[in-house]
Amino acid sequence: MRLTIVGCSGSYPGPESPASCYLLEEEDAAGRTWRVLLDLGNGGLGALHRYADPLAIDAVLLSHLHADHCLDLTGYYVLRKYHPLGPQPRIPVWGPAGTAGRMARAYDLPEDPGMREEFYFREWVGVERIGPFGVEPVPVNHPVPAYGLRVSAGGATLAYTGDTGPCASLDVLARDVDLFLAEASFRSGDDNPPDLHLTGTDCGEVAARAAARRLVLTHVPPWHDPQDALAEAVAAYAGPVELARPGTTYQI
Ligand SMILES: [Zn+2]
Ligand SMILES: [Zn+2]
Repeated sequence: MRLTIVGCSGSYPGPESPASCYLLEEEDAAGRTWRVLLDLGNGGLGALHRYADPLAIDAVLLSHLHADHCLDLTGYYVLRKYHPLGPQPRIPVWGPAGTAGRMARAYDLPEDPGMREEFYFREWVGVERIGPFGVEPVPVNHPVPAYGLRVSAGGATLAYTGDTGPCASLDVLARDVDLFLAEASFRSGDDNPPDLHLTGTDCGEVAARAAARRLVLTHVPPWHDPQDALAEAVAAYAGPVELARPGTTYQI
């Protein structure tokens, strides 16, 4: 499975990166390459053009409905509906309950049909299979319904936190994964509100407890120095740790 960091800026796009968007690619047994997006936050769609044909996405998997994780589905709706090659086939969009209505309102469309002629909206309920990918949604701790996503393909497993405060389910999410993509929005020692985001220390501690084989920190907001998150995580986890950067590809 190949992971490409399309956007990794926390909470809003920064000067160096769009907001959250990650491309996963894997070939199936017939040799067809499947592509799914984990989140499609603001700025993600433009940057995606650098790494893949945007028409060649098979599914969009939304962790939650905060703007920095879903809003570029509005542009993607336009791209698929009005592309000069003609209207594109419907593809599935997984997300929390209410995703179809949320995206219709974001584009100021009538809620019926909203974007239902372009996307097949599916609610996270259990393990899903998308081509060669198996995707397990794990509810996490955020002010809105939010899911961490545990994705397996080709014998490898990646876990993505989405946005979350510390919670026991993170240990389940990250258990024995090959790569743990974890949000480090907060700095330890700040007066952080509860039940919202993780610090670099939190990410490192989960990675250590869950025996994750590699930790990649993401979602650091532009107002923080990402080196602070990295230093915190390195102090808490003995395995390999690095900061997500746009355009980096990981073969997992
Ligand atoms: Zn976020
Ligand atoms: Zn959020």
